[in-house]
Amino acid sequence: MEKMRVRFAPSPTGPLHIGGARSALFNYLLAKQSGGEFIVRIEDTDLERSNRESEENILSSLQWLGIEWDEGVDKGGDKGPYRQTERMELYRTYLDQLLQNGDAYYCYCSEEELEAERKELMDKGELPRYLGKCRNLGDAERECREKEGRKPVIRFKVTPGMVVTINDMVRNHVSFESDGIGDYIIAKSDGIPTYNFAVVIDDALMEITHVVRAEEHLSNTPRQIMLYKALGLQAPKFAHISLILGKDRTKMSKRHGSTSVVQYREQGYLPEAIVNFLALLGWSPEEEEEIFTMEQLIEKFSMNRVAKNPAIFDLDKLNWINGYYIRQTPVEKITKQAIPHFQKAGLVGDNLSEAELKRLEAVVGAVQTKISHLSEIVEKADVFFNDKLELAGDKELEVLKGEQVPSVLDLLTKKLEPEEELTVETVKPILKSLTKELELGGKKVYMPLRIALTGKTQGPELFDLIPILGLDGVKNRIAQAKELAGM
Ligand code: GLU
Repeated sequence: MEKMRVRFAPSPTGPLHIGGARSALFNYLLAKQSGGEFIVRIEDTDLERSNRESEENILSSLQWLGIEWDEGVDKGGDKGPYRQTERMELYRTYLDQLLQNGDAYYCYCSEEELEAERKELMDKGELPRYLGKCRNLGDAERECREKEGRKPVIRFKVTPGMVVTINDMVRNHVSFESDGIGDYIIAKSDGIPTYNFAVVIDDALMEITHVVRAEEHLSNTPRQIMLYKALGLQAPKFAHISLILGKDRTKMSKRHGSTSVVQYREQGYLPEAIVNFLALLGWSPEEEEEIFTMEQLIEKFSMNRVAKNPAIFDLDKLNWINGYYIRQTPVEKITKQAIPHFQKAGLVGDNLSEAELKRLEAVVGAVQTKISHLSEIVEKADVFFNDKLELAGDKELEVLKGEQVPSVLDLLTKKLEPEEELTVETVKPILKSLTKELELGGKKVYMPLRIALTGKTQGPELFDLIPILGLDGVKNRIAQAKELAGM
């Protein structure tokens, strides 16, 4: 397999988006699979919107997901610097080359002039584009504009009448007519290169072999290909991966819920689950199986099985995958990850004693199979932190008023009392014996017990619950249940 050098090139203008994370993951998988390199390059030429906080968020989110890069801002590498604002001299060299070869020119048009041109074209029903007013300015005209104090941008000269074809790894052949593309800006009036220019220089100098990025960049690609040609640089292979849509088939946005990786992290999704879920957003494995570790993804991922049509972000599926990973994780580890959620809810303090930690592990173990993300754990586990029995509603009270209930509650207490230690192993047979001795069906025994101990009809298994509550806790709740039911 050809060794791939690929990159993820985020603009640090906000937290790492789910879509960005998916692009990063696909690139990472290709690099690892082919024994190549994965590079993270920070595209911060939009000085107003770029900030270090976003950069840090993006890098720490990638790290959290386990998407490690081989070269990047903090790691270094021999094709650096890896932050575009630190590469200005390199860009200048290539801008000069284009200007000298007559492939680019200074343009002095004002915003008003450009706006008037755009409007005129649109009124005629044509594509708005720059028609090349400054293409052939003579020295005198240029000087005159300079004297007026106009600060020029640099535009690339698009050859008219050409067809640029992209051989896209996902979309096959996609053609663009150069006539639809006006001479475009490659450096702004402050000398800072635009995305389309900087990305070409960087991908070429960093020897990127494959560019895998979001579909929204497809229309930029012919512009970039023209620059590779004009500069005599080798263009990489391209793959444009489809948009991520919400379930209503509109572009994934805040309306659909959380969009950044850090939000999912805060809600208690596990990185393994997010990675697994992201891989399935566009890529489909050969087999039915849907659960994959990073190692398995590295082995199985293939661009051939990346779909052209949009990927649908299905939160139910993410919850299902996350629930699976939560169940698979050892209780000690899940407890550690759940502690911040308990702390946030004020249920545990900062420094847990050994005994508190053990109890918390038991609590987590009792609800671990019942949650799809860790922030749900607080609600599911509230019964262990609140001694007051609160009935969920009238239905529960009705059950407690059943005529068999006093004997159920009393027999349980009687059987628990002599036990030296309440554990899952000692409680299980006791629970079993209740139905036999009372000659009652399970529903008549276990439902009132559950309600007496938790106030709800659903929750942790009774054999998990009782050892955690302890004999005193059980008795205390049973007393409250009796009072509520008027026994
Ligand atoms: N900075 C661009 C973005 O965040 C990168 C696009 C590309 O991968 O070329 O959208």
